[in-house]
Amino acid sequence: MRVILVGPPGSGKGTQAKQVSERFGIPHISTGDILREAVRNRSALGLEAEPIMAAGGLVPDDLMIGLIRERLAQPDATKGFLLDGFPRTVVQAEKLDGILGGNEGGDLSVVVLLVPDALIVNRITLRRSCGACGAVYHLENLPPKTAGVCDKCGAALVGRQDDNEEAVVKRLAAYHAQTAPVAEYYRAKGQLKEVDGNAAVDVVFERVMRSLGA
Ligand code: AMP
Repeated sequence: MRVILVGPPGSGKGTQAKQVSERFGIPHISTGDILREAVRNRSALGLEAEPIMAAGGLVPDDLMIGLIRERLAQPDATKGFLLDGFPRTVVQAEKLDGILGGNEGGDLSVVVLLVPDALIVNRITLRRSCGACGAVYHLENLPPKTAGVCDKCGAALVGRQDDNEEAVVKRLAAYHAQTAPVAEYYRAKGQLKEVDGNAAVDVVFERVMRSLGA
C-alpha cells in the first residue's frame, strides 16, 4: 500500500494521514513533521529550513528529495507508506518516480483533499499543536481533552510558527502555484483520487478510505 496525500495547508491532511496510516499499518511519513523535528533539534537541516518554513516558502527540492530518499530506504517503508507533504512540486514527483523504480504505477494511490481557500485561514487559526511531540489539534473539530494540554504527552499546546496569516497566504499561494500541478501530474497518470475535504474529520476519513477502495 503506497499512498500520497495531497492538500492545501489546513485541509486536514496531517490528521487524515495519521488515521489512514494507522488503519493500513503503514508508516506515516510527513516531511513537515521531519522538518519541524530538525528545527527543534537545531540540526543543519533544521537551521536551513527554519526561516523558509516560518515565511511560508518551500524548502529546496534537492534537500527534500535527499531526505525522502533516505526515509524511504528505512526497513519500515519497504511494505508501504503514506506520504504527507511530499511531493510538493512536479520536480519532487518526478524524482519520486525514480526513487520508487519501475512499478510506481502499480499500487501507488494519490488522494487530493479539496477544501476551498475561503475556509483555510479560519481552519488554520484554530489549529494548535503540541510543542513537545507535535500532535495536532483543532479547537473546534479536534479539541484536546483538557484545554491547552496535549492528550498524548501532557505538554502545552501552541500555535505553529507558520500558522500566522501572512505565512498562510504565502503557503496557499505556493500550494496553487507548485503543488496543485502535482495533482495534475498524477491525474495524467490515472493515479489521482479527489476527495471533498469540507466535512467532519470522520466523514472525510470514510471518504478517503472509500477512494482507496477500503
Ligand atoms: P506541512 O506540515 O506539510 O504543512 O509543511 C510545513 C512546511 O514545511 C511547509 O510550509 C514547507 O515550508 C516545508 N515543507 C514540507 N514538506 C515540503 C516539501 N515536500 N517541499 C518543500 N517544502 C516542504
